[in-house]
Amino acid sequence: MNKIAIMGAMPEEVAPILEKLGEYKTTEYAGNKYYEATYNGVELVVAYSKIGKVFSTLTATTMIEHFACDVLLFSGVAGGINPSLKIGDLIVATKLSQHDLDITAFGHPMGYVPEGSVFVETDKDLLALSKEVANELGKTVVEGVIATGDQFVHDEKIKANIVKHFNADALEMEGGSVAVVCNALNVPFFILRAISDTADTDASFSFDEFMESSAIISAEFIMKMVDKVISK
Ligand code: SAH
Repeated sequence: MNKIAIMGAMPEEVAPILEKLGEYKTTEYAGNKYYEATYNGVELVVAYSKIGKVFSTLTATTMIEHFACDVLLFSGVAGGINPSLKIGDLIVATKLSQHDLDITAFGHPMGYVPEGSVFVETDKDLLALSKEVANELGKTVVEGVIATGDQFVHDEKIKANIVKHFNADALEMEGGSVAVVCNALNVPFFILRAISDTADTDASFSFDEFMESSAIISAEFIMKMVDKVISK
């Protein structure tokens, strides 16, 4: 039986999920709070990591190694790159990269370090389940590449560079590191983001305006994913 980790980076990304759980137990561990609940007969562990690759690595690892979760679903917001992605639209990652990992001075491609890989692919079965969920909800969900880095991108030139190296459809600050953790520990994972901004010069204003509503859109879809995982 699965024990499902549901992760966000910011409180606003997990608040709509906690609301749906009713009762949960709060455990403090390694500087974060982890919320444990039984939902439709299945154990869930919910947490927000804080922003960025390091904090999200810590939380993903903790959920798997300490709380024994065996599947991980990430819910949150992202900056859109693909012009078809508008505010509030959903993107599911097919693969993720670290756009700020740079040892190109030694002839390596951007995002690559020896014994690593530029991209980490997400779980095909969870992707297939998300298609079923999208169909049932009558929602369009874009599948694409997500680029992750320790930087809030609000600059067309940086965006263009990320497209050049990774052909990314969206960018954010946690997915790529969560992907590395789950991949290394053989835990199937799913990264969902709703667009809060388009990573351009207005991004911080757009983010402030739409982060909460987009976080809710993502969280609602993630809870349908939980239902789907449970029903299989
Ligand atoms: N306003 C927040 C900081 C948000 S950082 C504060 O002051 O505390 C942006 C968060 O949303 C990150 O968790 C990241 O994953 C995601 N995100 C949304 N748009 C982004 C963008 N344009 N660039 C990078 N990350 C983005």
